Amino acid sequence: MPGHPRQAGPCSRECRGACDDSLWCGEGRVVEEFVMEPIPPYLFAFAVGELGFREVGPRTKIYSEAVPGVLDAAAKEFSGTEEMIKVVAHELAHSWTGNLITNKTNDHFWLNEVSQHMQRRIVEAVQGKERAALNIGIGWKLLVEDMERFKDNMEFTKLKTNQQGVDPDDVYSRVPYEKGFQFLWRIERQATNVPGIENHIDLKVWTEGTGIPPDAMEPASDIYAEIVSLANEFKVLALDARHRLSESKDYEVKVAFLQLAIASRCSNYYSEVEKTLKEVGRMQYLRPLYKALVQGTGKEEEKTFAKRVFSEACSCYHPIAQGVVEAILVKHT
Ligand SMILES: [Zn+2]
Repeated sequence: MPGHPRQAGPCSRECRGACDDSLWCGEGRVVEEFVMEPIPPYLFAFAVGELGFREVGPRTKIYSEAVPGVLDAAAKEFSGTEEMIKVVAHELAHSWTGNLITNKTNDHFWLNEVSQHMQRRIVEAVQGKERAALNIGIGWKLLVEDMERFKDNMEFTKLKTNQQGVDPDDVYSRVPYEKGFQFLWRIERQATNVPGIENHIDLKVWTEGTGIPPDAMEPASDIYAEIVSLANEFKVLALDARHRLSESKDYEVKVAFLQLAIASRCSNYYSEVEKTLKEVGRMQYLRPLYKALVQGTGKEEEKTFAKRVFSEACSCYHPIAQGVVEAILVKHT
């Protein structure tokens, strides 16, 4: 948020009367002045127009243009906001990590995503330890997958990377989020004494080394352990019946479950997969679902399904996401 808005009349005392523009100097016109620190342009936005709001929860209002249809549509789109605590906590955390303290170049992007650690501390406080542990477990799984993805290009398994001449979108991954989280979690386990921490933790290995450091830790979560142990077994239905993961409003949980369902060829869930692919646009969800569908042999039905869903949904995806999914489909079909 920009600091200290100050209201003033349209003209300073000296210029009063000298202005012959009746709109600019009109009676009752108010000028808002903002005193701002320099900020990066991606954090800067104007919302101009006649705005109205709807309440979508005890602590959440949604603002949009004050036209009934638009306001209704916005309220519908964001109706589940309070259940998506994880996303809200993460973006809120960016007010400090990322926005208040910003990385100078994209090589240090992981500093921006220290928010991932704050997000999980908030989730733990609001939804409890088990839920936070499940999120950490899913993050761990994603980190391991990304280590595999970059096994021939280990530079991008580092926290501090060298992105000279590289398109950041090509190497975007969960590494800055999940390895960064693991680093902070490691510090937290040691944190009785922050000064001198370098005597206990190899900071250079963590920030500049490749791969997953030996003192990183897979979390202990009952639901997560169950998800991992059930992979490739036909117990997906029982798992879902117990924990209702396919109905989760938390897309990270839902997508992790649907990946498992696809891997187990549990076609009962393909309509849910299709629905999800048509309602999310974030690459972090699209990539694993499309990959799960088309990777591997003997999956002609899944490949045809993936191509059909993509052809129907792609116009709603961001061009970068379109390109990423297209590349996955071309590579595997
Ligand atoms: Zn973030």
